[in-house]
Amino acid sequence: MNNYMKLEIPSKTTNEAFARAAVGAFAAQVDLTIEELSDIKTAVSEAVTNSIIHGYKDASGVIFINCNISCKDDKYTIEIVIEDKGKGIEDIDVAMQPLYTTSPNDERSGMGFTVMQSFMDSLDVNSVLGEGTKVVMTK
Ligand code: ATP
Ligand code: MG
Repeated sequence: MNNYMKLEIPSKTTNEAFARAAVGAFAAQVDLTIEELSDIKTAVSEAVTNSIIHGYKDASGVIFINCNISCKDDKYTIEIVIEDKGKGIEDIDVAMQPLYTTSPNDERSGMGFTVMQSFMDSLDVNSVLGEGTKVVMTK
């Protein structure tokens, strides 16, 4: 069963819960454990929240979500791509370090990328300053 879905949402904080639930509902068609599904939803939340609060900081824009389910040798993989056209990340290696945050005053702990990395099987971040950020995760 190969399948995909695409979502386009404005960067409103209310859409974080929507994105989480929508991706969760799509991923649920794969035979995942409750824990795996919960991990996927949490990782999506982190990425979408980052696009809203960092990518489109002081601005608003569109967040693009693509999910793809593929099957190889009876094993399913779900790939989730979360992309914004926001301000981008200056140094990805630094940004991905645990506890690194550019918003220490907003109750941010700098653990979003670490959560995505540990909850998913792979995490790939591409970003260009002034152009945007693309997060690709698989499980
Ligand atoms: P937390 O996720 O724990 O609330 P955080 O968002 O600061 O805190 P991370 O999610 O790990 O921590 O992100 C680290 C840093 O990377 C952010 O502080 C921000 O500077 C940058 N960043 C992450 N995602 C984006 C994005 N989509 N656009 C621009 N900058 C980003
Ligand atoms: Mg974050």
